[in-house]
Amino acid sequence: MGAELTVGGLECVFTGSVWAEGPVWVPSSQTVRWSDIPNDRILEFSPATGMTREYGQGVEFTNGRTLDADGTVVQCSHGRRRVERDRGGAVTGLVDSFQGCRLNSPNDVVIARDSSVWFTDPPYGILPGTKEGHEGEQEYGGCYVFRFEPVSGTLTAVITELVYPNGLAFSPDESVLYVTDTAGPARGVPLRIVAYDVLDGFCHRNGTSLELEEGQAADGLRVDVHGRIWTSAGEAVRVYSPSFDLLETFPIPERVSNVCFGGPDGQDLYITATTSLYRIRTTTRDAAAHS
Ligand code: MG
Repeated sequence: MGAELTVGGLECVFTGSVWAEGPVWVPSSQTVRWSDIPNDRILEFSPATGMTREYGQGVEFTNGRTLDADGTVVQCSHGRRRVERDRGGAVTGLVDSFQGCRLNSPNDVVIARDSSVWFTDPPYGILPGTKEGHEGEQEYGGCYVFRFEPVSGTLTAVITELVYPNGLAFSPDESVLYVTDTAGPARGVPLRIVAYDVLDGFCHRNGTSLELEEGQAADGLRVDVHGRIWTSAGEAVRVYSPSFDLLETFPIPERVSNVCFGGPDGQDLYITATTSLYRIRTTTRDAAAHS
């Protein structure tokens, strides 16, 4: 099974972060860009040189990011409590409020083929004592998954029932949205990945979900061209079928936060895991529209 999904072993390509998150492959620079959230900086690894450099510091605690159709990076900022665009280092806000209230601390983001921007908004960057943002209030009183239309500026809450929605990814045809909930038993719900049918820009729970043990927590996740879900799973990356049959487990030496497909042909899986960035060569690539 493993030989079908990956080729060769796990490599560690960088160590030196506190909490690595939010990886994306940036085609224009042929680099993986990711966040070291507590150190408030953005890092970039070049597979061509094998070197990692600091892309930015004092970045207001960026977290998840994705690629837009024009090749620019769209990212979440805990500190600015917004989703923003990075165009060659020039950062501008896309959306920071819902019904007159500030967002909590946007965590992860994907962009659909219709250019709508979908993101999660748990409170990790505003909680008391946070090292991943600035303490603050949950102004609108929930933690929602939102859909933002950049042209009209319309922000819609598409999922309001999850406790701490976190990672998210579409199925290849964008008919299903997978969302992780990292709240867990301490807040009265299981750690879980929940699937929603997407219809006319809204989400409807379709009855499919996966409950996870403590230690297998799913944070960020991606979906490949065959619809398989590649997810963080504690100190592992797990691969599931679209209906959550476990296909493969890849142990990782540190707790994994997120993954992204990248590399020159898009078939390298980059894994952000606590202090390090890891890589596994796969036989597939991301299903997302712009990756
Ligand atoms: Mg996350």
